[in-house]
Amino acid sequence: MTRKKSTRKLFVDLESVVEELIVEEPEEVTEPEPVVEEMKIIPTPEEDAIWNDKVLNSFSKTCAKCGSKDQVEVHRIVNDPEKRHELSNGIVLCKLCGRGFDGQTYVEFMRN
Ligand SMILES: [Zn+2]
Repeated sequence: MTRKKSTRKLFVDLESVVEELIVEEPEEVTEPEPVVEEMKIIPTPEEDAIWNDKVLNSFSKTCAKCGSKDQVEVHRIVNDPEKRHELSNGIVLCKLCGRGFDGQTYVEFMRN
């Protein structure tokens, strides 16, 4: 009777030791993830659409270069994520003038 009881106690003690070992085992590796920073910059399509409309209206849907109202599109003056939704970073150009804008700075483009 007494023997049986002591055997059981030993088993319980071993179990608690094993539990303690398992708890101490995992190492804490907390490296900061830079992905979160990049995700903040990614705009939603809705934000882009709202900005697009604002720029179009501020130019009365007219090409800033030739004054045409045909096939006008919104272009970004600088490709800076922080200025992505600034009204002053948008320009409205017709399809023809827009082609010339690609690959040039805004200042160069308006001078020509
Ligand atoms: Zn134009």
